[in-house]
Amino acid sequence: MKHCSGQPAGPEPRTFYGIGASGGIVVGRALVLMRRTRRAGWYHLPPEQIDREVDRFRTAVDQAEAELKEFRSQLAEDLADSLSIIDSHILMVRDRMILDRTVEIIRTKQINAEWALARALGRIKKKFDRIDDPYLKDRYNDIKYVADRVFGLLSGREMTPLSGIDEPVIIVAHEFSPEDTMGMRSENVLGFVCESGGVTSHTAIVARSLGIPAVLGLEHITRECVTGDRIILDGFSGRVYLHPTPDQQKQYLEYERQHRDFSQELAFYIHLGSETLDGHRVRLAANIEMPDELDTVLRYGAEGIGLFRTEFDYFHREQVPDEEMLYATYRDLVTTLAPHPVTIRTLDTGGDKFSGHLCTSGVRLGQERNPALGLRSIRLSLREPSLFKVQLSALLRASAHGRLRILMPMISSLCELRRVKDIFAQVMEELKRNRLPFNPRVEVGIMVEVPSAVIMADTLAAEVDFFSIGTNDLIQYSLAIDRGNEYVAHMYEPLHPAVLRMIRQTVEAAHSRGIEVSLCGEMAGDVVTVPVLLGLGVDELSMRPSALPFVKRILRHSCSKQLRELGNRVLQCGDGGEVRNFLTSYLPKYYPEEFGQ
Ligand code: PEP
Ligand code: MG
Repeated sequence: MKHCSGQPAGPEPRTFYGIGASGGIVVGRALVLMRRTRRAGWYHLPPEQIDREVDRFRTAVDQAEAELKEFRSQLAEDLADSLSIIDSHILMVRDRMILDRTVEIIRTKQINAEWALARALGRIKKKFDRIDDPYLKDRYNDIKYVADRVFGLLSGREMTPLSGIDEPVIIVAHEFSPEDTMGMRSENVLGFVCESGGVTSHTAIVARSLGIPAVLGLEHITRECVTGDRIILDGFSGRVYLHPTPDQQKQYLEYERQHRDFSQELAFYIHLGSETLDGHRVRLAANIEMPDELDTVLRYGAEGIGLFRTEFDYFHREQVPDEEMLYATYRDLVTTLAPHPVTIRTLDTGGDKFSGHLCTSGVRLGQERNPALGLRSIRLSLREPSLFKVQLSALLRASAHGRLRILMPMISSLCELRRVKDIFAQVMEELKRNRLPFNPRVEVGIMVEVPSAVIMADTLAAEVDFFSIGTNDLIQYSLAIDRGNEYVAHMYEPLHPAVLRMIRQTVEAAHSRGIEVSLCGEMAGDVVTVPVLLGLGVDELSMRPSALPFVKRILRHSCSKQLRELGNRVLQCGDGGEVRNFLTSYLPKYYPEEFGQ
């Protein structure tokens, strides 16, 4: 290529294709944060490797100490408080409770250092749990902070300095946890790009609900891009343009304007009823992760909350919230949204969502060999009944203030559900004893998101008041596709007829027992899949609030008979590709304004 100005050529424009995980277009400079992260699983050590493992652990401790000292030396002497905290952390790194205990566990249990450290920390936590003095109790957080640093060094994780970004940037990284994503609520974070993740990973879900444009699954992007590079991020198509040309930048600013205009046009639907042309009503509700999303829920005209993922409200605090705090949060949601129902799901941590302070008796969540199939969700609640009871008690008390529906995640068998019900009964007894009001007939439902729950749906329907289909997990578990894994993301097919048949089977089982079915997976907010879901007979769709107006427009342009025929038709297809091909001609025919050329 010839350059006539005599100036050196700029870097070559390049285009990368990833997964459009959260819509929006932004143009800005990159901030590249970290390289590959490695999760440490549990592994057993042959005797000859034990000394080496102890050395590895001691090296990480030395390194953590050196880092803390280095950090201390960068702080001005007048920051006396901060200096004394760092001094105490420096001392703690070598505390015998951490150091000697971990070495002892490596030697006696013959396990890797990360796992041994997690166990040592679990024991320390138990000791601190027995302390009444709140100040002393708080010291556990310091120990945990120090242990986390060592853990990070052992497992190859680098710290992510998300706070303190003081100019607008597009963050580029290997991986973000859902909690990291929550920390990006800043006007200086224009969007983010990462190498890992799938469209229904919790990182993607959080990005969408916070309205942060994001592209995931861009392998090697942290190698191709350096801090300061100009990029365009298109969260709709999943494209990222590195060193874009001036023409590309102009074109994308124009797309951004068109998108804004379209959103304004959709605002018209916010105050209209959620019904088909022939008057069939379907409740359109909102999914939220944090109580402060309530404004957005109301702004987009949701008819209630179909899913409050309560775990995020635990993660963003320093400590596990107590019953009063939870009660106040749940009561406020229920009263603000009255008369609409508010569905609150009990803790669904584990899988790709972990938090240090939900560390349970010796198990470091997220460090299991197979977290999606491990101690996740209701399994954790049943293992830690005291944690579960606090949440149930808060929920039941909130039920006295409006239409609350309590949702249990990841139920996979009748006996699991019955164990949950036993705990419910115990908490109700306790509330009665303490003369605290609650609604004894509060609606209790389960997420149908494990294939065994679909197969047993008729039996389970007899035991609960409603179902909520969690397609994000149902797809993951039935198609055996890790929802957060970029390498198999192309196989994650919501329109796979196996998934559609499971939805139909669940709806039929529920309706034959006279209970309602909501669907709160990401499919519920995707306008391509919405007519299919309506055709399969779901009673409620719950989605990120910003998706509501467009989904309502589709609903209002549909008629029940046509939807039923569509539902029956797609169930005859042989695979997801066939369903999509069919929809390519069907959607423009029945929804010309939305899908026509
Ligand atoms: C689901 O699995 O579809 C769901 C809504 O729950 P989560 O995405 O939080 O696992
Ligand atoms: Mg789920």
